[in-house]
Parts: sequence; C-alpha cells; structure tokens
Amino acid sequence: MVGISECLTGAQVRYDGNHKRDGLPDTRQLEALFEWRGFCPEVAVGMGVPRPPIRLVGDLAAPRAVGVDDSTEDFTDALADYAATVVRETGLDLAGYVFTEDSPSCGLYSVNVFADESNNPVPNGRGIYADALCHALPELPVEEAGRLFDAGIRESFVDRVFAYAHWSALRRAGLSSTALNEFHGCYEYLLMAHSVAHSRRVADLFSGFQGPPHALGDRYLRLLLTGLGQAATRASHANALLHLEGQLDGLDRAQRGELKSQISGFRAGEVAFQEVAAALREGCAATGRVDLHNQVYLTRPGT
Ligand code: SF4
Repeated sequence: MVGISECLTGAQVRYDGNHKRDGLPDTRQLEALFEWRGFCPEVAVGMGVPRPPIRLVGDLAAPRAVGVDDSTEDFTDALADYAATVVRETGLDLAGYVFTEDSPSCGLYSVNVFADESNNPVPNGRGIYADALCHALPELPVEEAGRLFDAGIRESFVDRVFAYAHWSALRRAGLSSTALNEFHGCYEYLLMAHSVAHSRRVADLFSGFQGPPHALGDRYLRLLLTGLGQAATRASHANALLHLEGQLDGLDRAQRGELKSQISGFRAGEVAFQEVAAALREGCAATGRVDLHNQVYLTRPGT
C-alpha cells in the first residue's frame, strides 16, 4: 500500500475545488504495482473544499501553516497530528508515499517559507503534514509526484517501495541473523545495480558487525534504502548483470556468449531488461544456482 496526496488521484480536494491529476505521470504501470491510499490532510482536519489557502510562515526550521489572508488561522498542530493518525491507522502496511510538491501541507522539498508577512519566500521548506509523517516513519520511501516523471527516479522509488514492504514482512515474522542474511542475499545484485559503493558498505557491515539482529537490521535497512535511492543507469545495470552472469560457471561457452551478447544489447538500448533477466533466470535454473535465481533483481517489477 502506497500513500498518496489525494488530489493526485483526481479527487477534487484542493483549496480551489480542483484536483492535481496531471501532477503525476501516467500511472497505469504504477497502479498495477501499488494499492494507492489517498489522504488529504487539509480536508481531514476540517478545512473544507473550497477553503482559503494557507502558506508556511516563520522560522525555516519550524514554520507554521497559517492562512494567507488571515495569519491568525493556524493549522500547524492539526496537520501534524493528522500525520500521527495516518501512521497509527496504516502502520506497517504503508510501504511508500507520493506527495504533491509545493504544498504547505504535503510538499516534500522546496516549499516556500515566508519569514514574515512579506512576499519574499525562501524555497527550502517542507509541508507540515509531510514533515511529521517523515519524522514518524524515517525509512519510509517517499517521493514528490513531479519527480516520478523521471524514469530513473521512478524505478528507484518502485525498488525502494518493494524492498521496504518485503522488510516490513520480515519484521512481522521476526528478525533473526539467518533471516537477515537471507534477506540481503536476495538484494545483492539489485543494490549493486543502484550503487556499488553501498554494496561494499553493506558487505563491510555484515562482516564486522557484533550485536543483536535488530541493531544490524536497522543499519542495514538504512544503507539498503539509501543505496536503492540512487538512480541506476544502463551502464550500472549492465555491470550488475555481467557480475551475475559471471557466477554461472556451469554454462558452456556458447550459452555464456549468448548471455553476454544480450547484456551488451541491453547496454546499447536494443534489448529489454526483462529479456535479459529471463535469460539469466534460465541460466540460474540450468546451473542449479537457486541463490541467484531468487535474486529480487531478476524478478523485479518493470516501471
Ligand atoms: S496537496 Fe495535500 S493538502 Fe493539498 S489538496 Fe492535495 S492532498 Fe490535500
């Protein structure tokens, strides 16, 4: 389940009675992957539709959400409290969140904050509701809708959401050292495709860590999600695919040559990722490499 600013779903909940459906890319693929759950904090706290607009005013580090026309109308605490309600209601079911940009409630980055009653904003704030939600769930994958028009950012978001949902399931089942090792075993190549540096840091973490599984788990999850947060490129995917192919010792020269040529085709933009992944899965099955066959990287949903 992925939370979403409700105006992005087409619901007419904006202050002027409109929606913001065009703020999100064509979501047929995303809709097939996610169960969207829309929330409009301003409506939820009783501001109504239509309603007078609000804006962020005051200290950049702790602005208040007040009426544009009447700054004595202060909705800050109500919006922050509503985030706590959403977290309580959705709990571990929430696997990500897509916010509307520029909103004093939902904006994630670059929201205008007015130091005083003037019209000279600093565009470095975060909406009150978005900020409270991110503080309550610091590892939750979040994005602004407009950034999802970028294919690399969209792919990274989808990978993070699925990894987080998988992680939440693991937490529900109980975290042990064995479960943690198995979990990371499935993400090795996906992480490599996004960030070789984070792959190395995770390997170092696992080799040197002394302590209970939950402490290792917290640090691991942060590294994994930060690494997946780096957009993969064709070159970084090709690198991870070649590493995987290099593990398939049981294949003959002709089969490996075929795989290598498919990976080159992918690097050149001539072969789809799914095609190469399917060929690698066949190679893993043929060589009995169950560990590689189970890589999330080879079965991840396309975006
Ligand atoms: S940006 Fe947030 S508060 Fe504003 S209309 Fe959309 S969902 Fe509601």
